[in-house]
Amino acid sequence: MSSSITPGRMPVLFVGHGNPMNAIEDNQWSRAFEDLAISLPTPKAIVAISAHWYGQGTQVTGNVLPPTIHDFGGFPAELFAVEYPASGNPELAAQIAQSLTKYGGTVSQAWGLDHGTWTVLRHLRPAADIPVLQLSIDYRLSPADILNIGVVLRELRHQGVLVLGSGNITHNLGDVMARWGQANPQTPDWALRFDTDIAAALEQHDLQFLATAVNAPDFRFAHPSPDHYLPLLYSSGAADVEDTVSFPITGFDLGSLSMRAALFSESK
Ligand code: ZN
Repeated sequence: MSSSITPGRMPVLFVGHGNPMNAIEDNQWSRAFEDLAISLPTPKAIVAISAHWYGQGTQVTGNVLPPTIHDFGGFPAELFAVEYPASGNPELAAQIAQSLTKYGGTVSQAWGLDHGTWTVLRHLRPAADIPVLQLSIDYRLSPADILNIGVVLRELRHQGVLVLGSGNITHNLGDVMARWGQANPQTPDWALRFDTDIAAALEQHDLQFLATAVNAPDFRFAHPSPDHYLPLLYSSGAADVEDTVSFPITGFDLGSLSMRAALFSESK
């Protein structure tokens, strides 16, 4: 992130985090995250909604020093050794939980920063010098409720807070494994279609489309479980029609994994 002058409202970001190895590899995606960092203003804090904190309740990390959580298996020791030592912000956590009382908002010490957050922030903010909070996804909530939580989070943008959703617009690990090891795995039609349809809806700020996409025929292929889709709804709710949408990262990793990032910035 650059040190450019803080705008009136922070942008909102959604990133496709993809393979955890992006945290430590020098590859197309890690370089794309580094390029994206240049265009982002410096926030006062980051509130991340990761696909990997998915359970019951809307919890906000209240840790002074949130631990780095290595919530995966089968990866090299080098990845388990990565720490992302950003501080938290308990006061901001309490404020956010309070604002989300309607959705069961609580402060929690039980989590920290999971790999949906730190594998990306390691490139977006390598110095780890900005406080980072995570907000959990309550799988019992409807897409409309999740969009509404995003609308509540929108207010944070005036306080210099970056809302960061981290998932993937298409995420079917069964399909990824079926193509594993292929030199140039093909991108299936359902992935291309779903990614294109969602991009169009984001450009039009069509929240109705984004909410009902979970019922679209391609959704069960794009998301056998909705956990990687829902972070996009938090980000989309935090954006509004005043924002210009851009896609600083596009393309597919491992055949069918959309790495599309969406940046919602106040129009100049
Ligand atoms: Zn993930």
